[in-house]
Amino acid sequence: MSNLVRCIDPSGQLTCMAADTTAMVREARRIHQTSNVCTAALGRLLTAASFMGITLKGADHSVTLRMAGDGPAGSVIAVSDAKGNTRGYVMNPEVRVPNKSERKLDVGGAVGHNGTLSVIKDLGLKDPYVGQVPLVSGEVAEDITGYYAISEQTPSVVSLGVLCTPDTEEVIVAGGFLIQLLPTATEETISKVEEGLAGLPAVTTMLTDGLSPFEILKKALPKFELEVLEEADTAYVCDCSRARVEKALISLGPEELLDMAKDETTEVGCQFCDKKYYFTSSELRKLSKKSG
Ligand SMILES: [Zn+2]
Repeated sequence: MSNLVRCIDPSGQLTCMAADTTAMVREARRIHQTSNVCTAALGRLLTAASFMGITLKGADHSVTLRMAGDGPAGSVIAVSDAKGNTRGYVMNPEVRVPNKSERKLDVGGAVGHNGTLSVIKDLGLKDPYVGQVPLVSGEVAEDITGYYAISEQTPSVVSLGVLCTPDTEEVIVAGGFLIQLLPTATEETISKVEEGLAGLPAVTTMLTDGLSPFEILKKALPKFELEVLEEADTAYVCDCSRARVEKALISLGPEELLDMAKDETTEVGCQFCDKKYYFTSSELRKLSKKSG
């Protein structure tokens, strides 16, 4: 069964999608060795990136979400391609903050309540599309809702969740759903959406109970017929290469590269997957000539 499903209500008044990103977030945690609160921040943002990515039209298009808050975790970055495959990282992955309550992680406390959410869409044009909005709470879902409202004028319901074991810090489940009202939506439809959401269990509870993404949408929108538009199998994927790392090194400028070339070999780790690339002193000097 696919782990992401996108549906439309046949009357064309809303679209929705849901995803089980447990495997994706587990892989992110394995790579980055994140604390629970950072796993939750990154996992929520990866899930949101996957939702934005899957709606991109071109195979080579991508979307980058950057939450830059004033909290101790620092910036959280998530990138998705048009298949909904994601990669990302947290600036300070080991940061821990006290829980809000016994079981509730304080994601907003780690990310920060003040700052910006940037959405950068690379649509293969000369310049990328950039939308930037202030953070609402740093809890991710509310910030994504704010982005859709302000930058895309689309009223949305966003639910994102990551559940971890408190002691071993393993990911139990992760996922979310997104409901978006189209301009044709009537007052009656809006009320039907609100009524359905009242009393809906948390998305992590529904995932723990074994509900599939489609079943989550049926439960969140009980008064709607849903037609499946698309299904996808999404995963944590990094497509880094030596050529891409060289390009990044060149962008540092000749001075920096010559400074790095003082060492016999320099190790450069990919920020997204931690794969190591090694450059000799002479290779770096060669790159410095292409730089600047
Ligand atoms: Zn990589």
